[in-house]
Amino acid sequence: MTAGRALPRTLVPLKDESLTGYLLRLSHRLEFTPLELGQVLGLAGGSWSAGLAGRLILEIPADRATQFAERAQLTAAEVDALTYRPDAGVYPAVDVTPYATVNIWTQRVVRFEPWLRNLSTRYCPRCLAGDGSIIQARHGGSWSKYWRFAPVFACVEHGRLLDHLCPVCAQPALTRNPAYSSQLIPLSAVAGMHPAACRAPTADRRKACHGRFDEPAATAPTTADPAILQPLLDLQARINSLLTGRDPREIVATSCGRPVTAAQYFADLQAASNMLATVALHPSLADPALPPMPGLERFYTELRAFAADPARRALDPLLKDHTYGRFGSQTAIPLDSAACGCLLVLADGLLSAQDPYAAANRLAVLFGNVDLSRCLPNIGR
Ligand SMILES: [Zn+2]
Ligand SMILES: [Zn+2]
Repeated sequence: MTAGRALPRTLVPLKDESLTGYLLRLSHRLEFTPLELGQVLGLAGGSWSAGLAGRLILEIPADRATQFAERAQLTAAEVDALTYRPDAGVYPAVDVTPYATVNIWTQRVVRFEPWLRNLSTRYCPRCLAGDGSIIQARHGGSWSKYWRFAPVFACVEHGRLLDHLCPVCAQPALTRNPAYSSQLIPLSAVAGMHPAACRAPTADRRKACHGRFDEPAATAPTTADPAILQPLLDLQARINSLLTGRDPREIVATSCGRPVTAAQYFADLQAASNMLATVALHPSLADPALPPMPGLERFYTELRAFAADPARRALDPLLKDHTYGRFGSQTAIPLDSAACGCLLVLADGLLSAQDPYAAANRLAVLFGNVDLSRCLPNIGR
């Protein structure tokens, strides 16, 4: 390898491509392991980090970003765009400024922020299969960095909900090795794998699953009510336009009748979805726990079907690993794209109230109908 010099070949980043996806594609082209490529690009090794650190998805330190850009023959802006740093102004979950005085702020965001899916990602098989160009046919399509954002649950371009599990091992896509959960890429020292291959550790921890995420014929996740797909795609298109807005200070949405920036809208959407999830995703609450908002009954029904299906919930790592007693305070959101989309339609519906008082009244009715002692076991016992 040629540490210290530009690489013999490189790749231009694809639209919305993540740092993970770029390293997987370029290492495939160069016939390196992702870890070897990280060492050549200055992202791994030395005193800084032996492996590819998971926190690199937030931002790459300036001196290392310069080295990366020189060796991969990219501009500084192209390197920056592979991380979430340019998105921090519109999407609060990746904004690290609240942690500026905390030494371990990156770890806090990476490990504990529920609206950044750091331990795995959703994906669109048709995007990963590439656009038919020679370079994408060889090395695959773009792993969108936005697929790790909780409110990105559908691919508008391909008109489908996103998947989140490997079709072979049923582990969440690009899941971390449990033994090295702070790493950017699972089993990054394993050679010879396609960029769209699973890489999850198998029962023998040293071997990687060879399942593939780029099966364009793969069946998309379905909804019990097919009529809700289009409204889910419409919400996704609106969310995408907020995520990719150029000026974070611009007023681009309304929340409870008030004009807001994208960051304010996402903060309110997260708060609304947390409150709704506490009751709508609680499987043992008797129906109708939530009087559905006018026109949104179908989404509530779909969400309750998800909550009542233990098999479907068991495939959702966050919901599987947390008891529902803790779930409300965990502010979690389903990985399951249909359930996630329905929860967000309801949350967006709450924010469409004409003023904060109307939203508060809707919440009062909602919580007034719920026996909270069943949601939170420590209350009233
Ligand atoms: Zn797609
Ligand atoms: Zn797998």
